[in-house]
Amino acid sequence: MKSFAYVRAGSVEEATDAFASHPGARYLGGGTNLVDLMKLGVERPAALVDVSRLPLDTVEELPDGSLRAGATVRNSDLAAHPAVRDRYPALSQALLAGASGQLRNAATTGGNLLQRTRCPYFQDVSKPCNKREPGTGCGALEGGVHRDHAVLGHSDQCIATHPSDMAVALAALDARVELHGPEGTRSVPAADFHRLPGMHPERDTEIHPGELITGVLLPAATAGLPSAYRKARDRASYAFALASVAVVLHLSDGVVERAGIAFGALAHRPWRARRAEDALVGAAPTTAAFEHAVDLELAAAEPLRDNAYKVPLARRLALDVLGRLAPPATT
Ligand code: SF4
Repeated sequence: MKSFAYVRAGSVEEATDAFASHPGARYLGGGTNLVDLMKLGVERPAALVDVSRLPLDTVEELPDGSLRAGATVRNSDLAAHPAVRDRYPALSQALLAGASGQLRNAATTGGNLLQRTRCPYFQDVSKPCNKREPGTGCGALEGGVHRDHAVLGHSDQCIATHPSDMAVALAALDARVELHGPEGTRSVPAADFHRLPGMHPERDTEIHPGELITGVLLPAATAGLPSAYRKARDRASYAFALASVAVVLHLSDGVVERAGIAFGALAHRPWRARRAEDALVGAAPTTAAFEHAVDLELAAAEPLRDNAYKVPLARRLALDVLGRLAPPATT
């Protein structure tokens, strides 16, 4: 293994300063993905800036009803928080659908958002990969197997999917990602935090160099707001999604006032289903309306040789969740 410097930061400013003074540094949270990638030789940082003990490990209920989860809150703790379970069940369900109990106890909120694709060609340094080494090609597209890859928004440079369950729920819930860096603090919508690959698949997110995720902000929601997450995978636990969906449904006077829908494992980022959401606004929550909306969204899919199954799978997941969230009398 390549040797590297190790710095434990005591404050956010110390962390960003240490990052700036160590070219080639990476922030280290729970280490559940980064350390694996270092062992595989995929990541070869010159320094690790350990942010796992920063005072960002609390979930705060803010006066306006919103909820702020610090970047170092462990996935298990966020999933179990009473306010998350009551007001944002899709988030709690998504977190519990990810990884294993041991990993969720170590993985952090910030690290979950920054985990890398599980594309096997990305993880195998003997294979070409534009994400790992720009310009080398794509092992998946060049004779590889596409079963787990993208059906939406992919490019001729990369067809990888984003592996996070949590990020899919955050996108549907209109959460924001809070960042601190050399240019100060800012926040970006969770739905826009991750990128499509385009010509630069080496960039997973819109994060600027040196920026540190300090937390995620969930907009105010009432207890009982209908939301849910459902994931299809090869085995019942400890497996990445083949397809998943997070839905939040705001109903008023018997119609859909607003919907948040995001698909996971279909694209290089959580896929916010804006066309489906727009189609549902003002509609009665019926099976026919849900089918029309979901089909409108998935019409944009461009499956590859081995993954056409993902489109009907995602459709069934979305229709199941929408049907369960809507009042039974109206479906
Ligand atoms: Fe690399 Fe993306 Fe191709 Fe996978 S799909 S090998 S991550 S370029």
